[in-house]
Amino acid sequence: MIGLTSLTIKRTLATNAIFSSTNANKLLQTALTTKDPITTWTREDVSSLFSLPLNDLLFYSQVQHRQHHNPSEIQLCTLLSIKTGGCTEDCKYCSQSSHNDTGLKATKLLDLDTVFEKAKIAKANNSTRFCMGSAWREMKGRKSALKKIGDMVKKINDELGMETCVTLGMINDEQIKELKDSGLTAYNHNIDTSRSHYKNVISTRSYDDRLRTIKSVNDAGVKVCSGGILGMGETVDDHIDFLHTLSTMEKHPESLPINKLIAIKGTPIEEELKTKYKERKLSLDNILRVICTARLLMPKSIIRLAAGRYTMKEHEQLLCFSAGVNAIFTGEKMLTTMCTGWDEDIAMLKKWGYVPMEAFKKTDPKTDLNVIYNDTKITLLQKAEEEKEKTLAI
Ligand code: SF4
Repeated sequence: MIGLTSLTIKRTLATNAIFSSTNANKLLQTALTTKDPITTWTREDVSSLFSLPLNDLLFYSQVQHRQHHNPSEIQLCTLLSIKTGGCTEDCKYCSQSSHNDTGLKATKLLDLDTVFEKAKIAKANNSTRFCMGSAWREMKGRKSALKKIGDMVKKINDELGMETCVTLGMINDEQIKELKDSGLTAYNHNIDTSRSHYKNVISTRSYDDRLRTIKSVNDAGVKVCSGGILGMGETVDDHIDFLHTLSTMEKHPESLPINKLIAIKGTPIEEELKTKYKERKLSLDNILRVICTARLLMPKSIIRLAAGRYTMKEHEQLLCFSAGVNAIFTGEKMLTTMCTGWDEDIAMLKKWGYVPMEAFKKTDPKTDLNVIYNDTKITLLQKAEEEKEKTLAI
């Protein structure tokens, strides 16, 4: 596409069973031409976009992606479990819940030096975001741990210049402020799934508890990282509700992790997927629809293909990147589950023509590529010439 100055797209959307093509066209036009992210999507809007023919959905999400991001860049992130196991929450999918008999050994909080060494290794392997997770329900009563984690964040920020994200369970206004003062980039707190499916997965913490924590993070001016897990026996309606909740938050999450469930032996969900949810298998089509719709609704969010990616074939991952994913977790482990390693990922990205995203990078279109969609000019990000000079360190 380099060298093109204008391109006219004339698409006629196939009529879908629920909404007229006129409605879908109008929504697409709104999504593709808005200057500011929209947080007033209705559930019907989300459903209408989600239900487009997949071929169209992929095309338009890529148009959206290229307007807001450099399509050649993928951010490499590494996630370390800094305190493993023994969690009092009863998340049915989690190996770290004390309610689940997975044989996982609980550990204490890692010390600063150990964590810093892991961050250094991640940086040396092109990761620009370092995420730290602890298996806790909440930070209440953990003053000294909070201080230690603040020190980790500060050292990684100051000495390595990496983005930092932590996931420590529920957190209140004062605690998040303390982490912000240490230089924390983002706080992860997933909504996991739709409000209605949530009760089938977790009972010890409500959906509203989750939203309250996310609000505290947002109010404190720390970037929100929030997404969920696909493949926990949810329906297509749950995927639509999940996207509706995320896209109507006061502010879209800066980071949106999409996890593919790893059914771990000893977790209740592993059994339920063989019995209760036997008919509800997660397909690539489901994953792509979620990613594409998220990209259209939340154009500026960094969409991260997170846990479970190692179970996907390379061409499936490529489709996810084309649909709007622009970050992956890579490294030795993904908390307690397997993760594709840096070398393998770097070789794959290089093969497909991607380069690693820098830390704290704001990707702006550098060259206009004018696309006319339904008589409206849309500016696409054109791959800049200098990007061609960038090479992956191997
Ligand atoms: S809160 Fe986190 S660590 Fe605890 S059981 Fe749930 S998913 Fe696992």
